[in-house]
Parts: sequence; structure tokens; C-alpha cells
Amino acid sequence: MDDRFLTQFWLRCEQPDPCFSADELQWIPAAEVESLLRQGILREAAPAKAAVCEMCGDGHESEIVWVQNSESRKLRPYVPCPEYGGAPIDPERLRRWALDLDAIAAELRRQLNLTGPPATLVPGRVWALGRRHLANRWRDFFFVAGATRPGSHQIWDRCPQIEEAPSPVILVPAMAPVGRTAPAIRLTNLTTLTETGVTLDVEYLAESLPRDTRAAAPKSITSFPVPEGATWDELKLTVREHSMLAEIRGAKDEFGFDDLGMSGPNDRLWGLLCAFARLNGRLPGVSRDSKDIEPATFRKQVSDLRHLLSTVFPITGEPIPAVRGAGGYRTLFHINLDRRDGFPIQPGSWDECYFIELRDGRIAITVKAREVFAVWSRSDDTAVEAAQRQSDHTEIYDLRTLGLADQAGRPTAEGRTLLEFLRNGGKLTRRGDDTGILRLAQRLRGWMGLHGDPFQFTPTRTLWSTFFESSRD
Ligand SMILES: [Zn+2]
Repeated sequence: MDDRFLTQFWLRCEQPDPCFSADELQWIPAAEVESLLRQGILREAAPAKAAVCEMCGDGHESEIVWVQNSESRKLRPYVPCPEYGGAPIDPERLRRWALDLDAIAAELRRQLNLTGPPATLVPGRVWALGRRHLANRWRDFFFVAGATRPGSHQIWDRCPQIEEAPSPVILVPAMAPVGRTAPAIRLTNLTTLTETGVTLDVEYLAESLPRDTRAAAPKSITSFPVPEGATWDELKLTVREHSMLAEIRGAKDEFGFDDLGMSGPNDRLWGLLCAFARLNGRLPGVSRDSKDIEPATFRKQVSDLRHLLSTVFPITGEPIPAVRGAGGYRTLFHINLDRRDGFPIQPGSWDECYFIELRDGRIAITVKAREVFAVWSRSDDTAVEAAQRQSDHTEIYDLRTLGLADQAGRPTAEGRTLLEFLRNGGKLTRRGDDTGILRLAQRLRGWMGLHGDPFQFTPTRTLWSTFFESSRD
């Protein structure tokens, strides 16, 4: 590892048309140059048109002249020299390698694991890399090269996206601009160069970012501009791993934990929101014998969640009314988990699925191999891409993950119904309008991303049977 070369590498990125000459690269370990070539951030460019004379010791640089050898017919480069006439030069020395800033931007995006569409804001100078949750909040990342070059103040005017981002982070190769409000972080401090190429230290980056103080202040909860007269049932919430998507009358926004005044994925209100999402907005009341959570505490949490949602979405009325008689709660807005919280692979139909109750009470779900299948890409929300499958795909879940057990881990009515199916080889004698079965069907459709029903009913025998294979380990 040669840190001096890495520093030179980033300093060079600050210049217009950054490149290295063969004379410069000859001092760098070949493995490191190779790794940069493999990463695509260094690539051979057109050879130099000028070179330093090697003959007279004057060190003058002149434009290359190519002269054909009369015998070999080959062209050979010469540096015109006042002393020697034509000073021959080794063609190897004319080779040049350009630093590909677009490829560097793409590599930064990849290593930071950013989402959202990347964009070149100013060609060769400014890139919007994408966003992610890091150091306690959502951050938009930008890569800016040549930020201290003369006239560079104009690039900021051309990139309102940086100023408008709620929490922008500017990555610069080596020179940080002065007087910017957004933190600018030098890649010289953040990267190492090894045989695998330039590597970004994401943890160190997270430590370098200014600590967020907003999370502690509940008054900073972000509010969604709700259209006039909108009602709760027009609101659609999609709960993701680290954020919540909101949509109302075509307007959309994404909320991170900070926007919601939550501490993170272990925040109790976040857990409650996820529980509502898993059950599509329905939540049973907590039974009296629950040891995990007191009914009064549970009511208080629901009340806190109502208050929070009413703050985020200034809509009149009660967003989560209690269900009379039956107990529990039902949201007026639509809420569900993002597809990524379901089975990671989209089966073609129910008869490709195996459900097995394991001895430890967990459920193994296997989707049998097909030649081509669709996979839900976790890095890109929009993509359902076809991929070649090597083997069966099995995931093991506890009932709570599947939304079929309460917070204490006891199976809900739907959870018990699933277990009965698995213990009876996929058969169950129940009425045709059994709500437990209908709700379980809805839950399983959501989890597996299938539209068809997982069960069929035979009226003559009042018998339900599963389309998927059911068994017990
Ligand atoms: Zn000379």
C-alpha cells in the first residue's frame, strides 16, 4: 500500500482531464495499478502528444513528431531538439492513463450501497450519488471534483439539489471547498488502496459526519403537506426496513426515523407501526395475561402513534380507532410492509411452495427450483428481475416475523390455523366463511407476493386444503 500514491491519485482528480503518464506510473507497484484498471477508474487514454527530450539534458518539452523508418517502415516518435535535431523517445513513455471520474462516482455509490437514481449534475465535476441512512439519518451523497478550482462557485449555483437536500454530504477527492454549510469530506482521508483497488471506509465516514441532534427534539418531526380536505383513508403507508413511504392523492414522500422523531429500528413506536403494517392495519388488543406488555402500556403506545401520525399528517379525525366489541385496533389509512419484507423470491404459484413446521416452532418456507424466476432486488425497489436459479430457496421464520404471533410470541388465530394445516398435512375441516382462514390467506398472499388463493374449499366435505405442500418436521 502506498498512501503517497493514493494522495496523488485524489489530488490528480481535482484537475481538469486528470491522468497519469507512464513516467509517473512506473514508480507505482504494478498490483495497485492493475487493481485500479480492474475497477475501471483508471483506463488507458490516447498517448501523449508531447514529451520531454531525453537527449540534451535541457529538460525541454516539445510536441512529438512521428517519423517513418526507411527500412522497417514503422513510425517512430521523436522529440524535436535544437541540439540533436530529432531525439528518439521510447513509445512506452508516451502511454497515458486517465482517471475516470464517472467510474469513481459509480464506485463510490456501489461501496456506499446508495439507493435512488444517480445523476451527473455537472459533467466532469458534480455527481448526485444517491442516498442512504447513515449516522442516524437519511443523507444525500454528492461527489464534487475541482471544488477549489477558479470559477468553481458557479457549480454550486448549477446544483440546487445539494442545497435542497435535507442532509447533503459532499465527498471531494482532496480539496474541500470553503464556506459551505454541507459537510465536505476528503476521500484522501477515507480510502485505502490495496490489491482490490480503492476502498472506502464507510464506518469511518459515518464517524466523520456531524452528529444529529434533531432526533432528541420531538418538535422537529417532519410534516407532510396534506392536500386540503384529505381524509385518513386516502393515505397509503408502506413500511420499509428503515423508512416509511407515504402517499396521498399522488403526492409521495419518504420518512426516516429522524423525520418521525424515532430513535431507530428498536423504537417502540416503530415496532408498533411495523406490527400494523404486517397485519395490514389490524391489530388485536393485548390479552390480560400478557407478560411482555401491559394493556395500559399498549394503549398508551397506540395513543402515542396516533399523536405522531396526526403530527406528520395534519388530517382531521382519529387515524387508529379502537374496534368496538372485538377489541384491538384498525387503522383508517392503508398500511402494509414493503414487498422486501416478504419472501425474497417470487414463486410462480402456490404449488411451488413448501411449508414445514420445524421442531422449534419456526416455519420453513421453500420455493422449489424453476429454471427462471423473478427475484425481488433489495438494492433497487423498482426492479423485479429475472434470474437464473441454482437451487431451491428456503427461508426460516418465526411466527412473529410472519405476523402470525403477538408480541409475546403466542400464535394469533391465523397463526394457529396455519399450524393446524401443517400438522394435518394441509387439510382442515372448517366452515367456508371461516374468517381465520380468510385472514391467513390474505397474510400468506402478501408474504409470498402471490395473488391467487393459497387454500381451496370443498363444500360437500366442509374441507379446506392448501395448494402448497404442508408438513411437520
Ligand atoms: Zn533536447
